[in-house]
Amino acid sequence: RELPGDPIASAGVRQVHGAAWSRVMPTPVAAPRLVAHSAEVAAQLGLDADGIAAPAFAQVFGGNRLLDGMDPWAANYGGHQFGHWAGQLGDGRAISLGEAVGVDGGRHELQLKGAGRTPYSRGADGRAVLRSSVREFICSEAMHHLGVPTTRALSLVATGDAVVRDMFYDGHPGPEPGAIVCRVAPSFIRFGTFELPASRGDVDLLRALVEFCVWRDFPWLLGRRAALPLAELRAAAAFDEALFAAWFHEVCTRTAALVGHWMRVGFVHGVLNTDNMSILGLTIDYGPYGWIDGYDPDWTPNTTDAQGRRYRFGWQPRVAHWNLGRLAQALSPLFADAAPLQAGLDAYATRWAACERDNAAAKLGLSECLGDDLALMRELQALMHRAGADMTNFFRALPDVDIEAEAPSLEPLRGAFYDTVQLAASADALDAWLARYATRCRADGLPREARVARMHAANPRYVPRNYLAQQAIERAEAGDEAGIAELLDVLREPYDEQPGREAFAALRPDWALDRAGCSML
Ligand code: AMP
Ligand code: MG
Ligand code: MG
Repeated sequence: RELPGDPIASAGVRQVHGAAWSRVMPTPVAAPRLVAHSAEVAAQLGLDADGIAAPAFAQVFGGNRLLDGMDPWAANYGGHQFGHWAGQLGDGRAISLGEAVGVDGGRHELQLKGAGRTPYSRGADGRAVLRSSVREFICSEAMHHLGVPTTRALSLVATGDAVVRDMFYDGHPGPEPGAIVCRVAPSFIRFGTFELPASRGDVDLLRALVEFCVWRDFPWLLGRRAALPLAELRAAAAFDEALFAAWFHEVCTRTAALVGHWMRVGFVHGVLNTDNMSILGLTIDYGPYGWIDGYDPDWTPNTTDAQGRRYRFGWQPRVAHWNLGRLAQALSPLFADAAPLQAGLDAYATRWAACERDNAAAKLGLSECLGDDLALMRELQALMHRAGADMTNFFRALPDVDIEAEAPSLEPLRGAFYDTVQLAASADALDAWLARYATRCRADGLPREARVARMHAANPRYVPRNYLAQQAIERAEAGDEAGIAELLDVLREPYDEQPGREAFAALRPDWALDRAGCSML
């Protein structure tokens, strides 16, 4: 089917009450052209190379045409942004085309980001620029290969239209190329999906949403009853407080596991608002995210996080907990008392603590995290910060340290530091730490091969460093789009050594220090 023009007159932007979504059509673009795609996601959807290359593909995933059965919508949700209730937000530039059943039998929601205005666009244009789309496309796929729960990306389509962004936010003057990413996930439901009806006192909608979410996104909680239609389950009073409690508990533990992965690989989400928290514990909404180069728990890629506090790397565990607290508050009308919600929040804390210990053991190559090991890790992190160590390269080189030596040499780690003067000032402390670490490894007794394998599986060699994405973007903007596929190809095997591709594991160059490329929009 062909589509009409922008369906949202200014009066169409509105507060939507009593509904969790609105039907809306993508707004056609001038000249949709496929720039990159994920072969893995395509295969999962049963799309072969011919299907991807067909002109119809760019037409559909650029928002110009619909396939039979597609009935697009935008979701309604609210959120706490920067600690404050922001009211209705919703999919202001995301439009879901429908669900596809993959070759694995699983459901995959296909969502275009940047496909035009929706009732939730407020004053904005519903579009996305090429650079932010490249960043989402590359990073979400890289996260998957790193083993981090995430929404996926099927395609990156250039629209042929120009998009203008706010100088104030990201310093880009003038028009720039527009693009659309097709995101793929089993569910795009967010914490804010529940917060919005709760904030309006609409308990019927809140309850209906929770029941739907349990049924569709957490069917295992229903056991064999999951196969029944939702209406039948409702009629049979299958949804009770105990089920809601089990569901919230799982949301909490999944969120903890997600944060555990972020902290392991050095990912900083950058806008951990409740509208950007997936109910399934997926990484969602790749905006001003960034990667830790030099280890610094206070670093944030979000230049609008004025105090530079809320969305920094080291605060992610507590901000996620705070966000779960907002979700708990929203769900409270469904519970007779707060005990089950508090139990879920406590489960978050317990699971996060376990993740932190597991991360320490895996990253240090210990068979398990015992007594003082967490302290050993924290001392190392403080030293890495002080000495200017690159997080990825330091941990990747750590297995090369000779732990059989009484006083192991720092030599194998030298290439992981940014500044020789800074390193020299901490060299004695690092030597002392390495001696303790070596003693601990010998006591642990893991055979060398097993220890190294464990460390290599937890400490990636390649991550989508901010400057790597930035280079791919600048090449693409200059007309050479090959860098996007090249970078993604390296990131397909992030834990493997890839001879000839060492440049992709290089320390952040100096030019990238003040140009993180972590722009917002
Ligand atoms: P974010 O900070 O990316 O989570 O976005 C917050 C809200 O702003 C969401 O409701 C988005 O849909 C909306 N939004 C962001 N960019 C645009 C845009 N270009 N057009 C319309 N809505 C947008
Ligand atoms: Mg968002
Ligand atoms: Mg965003």
